[in-house]
Amino acid sequence: MAAAPALSQAVQDFVRAPFRKMLIDGNWVAAASGKTFETVNPATGEVLANVAEGDAEDVERAVRAARRAFDDGPWATSTPTDRVKLLLRVADLIEQNAQELAQLETLDNGKSINESLNVDIPSAAGTFRYYAGWVDKAYGQTIPSDPTFFNFTLREPVGVCGQIIPWNFPLLMAAWKLGPALACGNTVVLKPAEQTPLSALRLGEILQEAGLPDGVVNIVPGFGPTAGGALVRHPLVDKIAFTGSTEVGKEIHRETSGTLKRVSLELGGKSPNIVFADANVEDAVQGALMGVFFNQGQVCCAGTRLFVEQKMHDEFADTLAKHASAMQQGPGMDPATRVGPLVSKEQLDRVTSYLEIGKKEGAKAVAGGERNTGKGLEKGYFVKPTVFTGVKNDMRIAQEEIFGPVVSVIPFKDESDAGLQGHHTLYGLAAGVWTKDVSKAHRVARAIRAGTLWVNCYNVFGASAPFGGYKQSGYGRDLGKHALDNYTETKAVWVDLRR
Ligand code: ADP
Repeated sequence: MAAAPALSQAVQDFVRAPFRKMLIDGNWVAAASGKTFETVNPATGEVLANVAEGDAEDVERAVRAARRAFDDGPWATSTPTDRVKLLLRVADLIEQNAQELAQLETLDNGKSINESLNVDIPSAAGTFRYYAGWVDKAYGQTIPSDPTFFNFTLREPVGVCGQIIPWNFPLLMAAWKLGPALACGNTVVLKPAEQTPLSALRLGEILQEAGLPDGVVNIVPGFGPTAGGALVRHPLVDKIAFTGSTEVGKEIHRETSGTLKRVSLELGGKSPNIVFADANVEDAVQGALMGVFFNQGQVCCAGTRLFVEQKMHDEFADTLAKHASAMQQGPGMDPATRVGPLVSKEQLDRVTSYLEIGKKEGAKAVAGGERNTGKGLEKGYFVKPTVFTGVKNDMRIAQEEIFGPVVSVIPFKDESDAGLQGHHTLYGLAAGVWTKDVSKAHRVARAIRAGTLWVNCYNVFGASAPFGGYKQSGYGRDLGKHALDNYTETKAVWVDLRR
């Protein structure tokens, strides 16, 4: 194990405070109930920090603050230039505090420090910078209508947005949600996941340092059914943006039907990654590994259903298993680690139960297949990178989202079989295809019903490209120009020129 980088003093101070407070109306405050909850370091199972536990009363205060800031505060009269400068400052400050944010993220979530430092933190900064560019470019249109009228559209902010985010990319998901919401002039109550609240709270300090007016972003950590539920039900919240499980997404869909809040949902997936026999094998193996073991497989678009053309199936599965078994597993703070712990005990139990389900269904674990309790890892939530072969497309491990480092290798006959099997699932978030045949790649890209399709690559993202699901993977798109649609209402104005 390589030596872990020393924890910065700022991180030590941040986690050692008696408890981290929540941000409401520009003030850092305790929960109305006085309650706190523990966030755990998944590499050791030890308590990392204590955090104020938000509930309905805190959500009430936060929503009222966001409402005031939207209706009357300086945010309502801020100019586009003010907002551009602010978002750019946030991006700069994230970069200036990258080491600290990366360490916090790794300690809280478990992910490797290299991924925190080289992927999550720069992408979060990049997202704010990208949306700074849209502030003064998202505008309405003039409409050719009856010449006695002047008819045009205004694009206006939706209002108070409740944003509920998951634990797999805590800071990055906050950036995906806050960037477009703020660019369009909304105010926000953000609820980070209970497993990983720390980087969002640190981001709250950064937003203040950047000069965001009080009440524009309020951050209420707490649990899903309590703090999250209160936000979903609150009558003064105009929009809910949610990233998380399909199950909770459906609940939010039902809960919001009473108020007809605007809703965007980015939910689960069970994405096919399809390898044809004419692909470059080494590239496809590396892509498959990255597609499923990146972030310990805790990625909604992970390529967990790995379809491999029959004639190269055995050789491919063999190479994949060798590589998977050789991946270095350890605490995320160790720079040599490629696969860290799962985020929580609950996830550990969930993923290991799927390992048993897979074995009972008759699949064979040719790599991993069990918890890793090797030296120094006994108390952490480690699961070995697992490759299952002998998987049939209708098995539970091929259909249900496991959200861990587990891939099912499934043979297919030919192109039509790949397409057919590829979209045989409830989900439609993403897919990959590996082939040197350009036409075939395009045909499969069209055949698969999913929000993102990668050809000869996997897990590639950019702030300017939309991301979201077909089918039960949700609706609405994060990122790109498309996310602006989530955060604006369109108003048609008619002016009678005769009066
Ligand atoms: P996971 O099962 O992967 O933890 P969830 O969908 O449960 O994913 O959680 C994603 C986010 O949704 C978290 O911030 C969580 O607190 C929140 N959440 C969970 N349940 C609810 C709920 N009933 N209402 C609102 N938010 C919820």
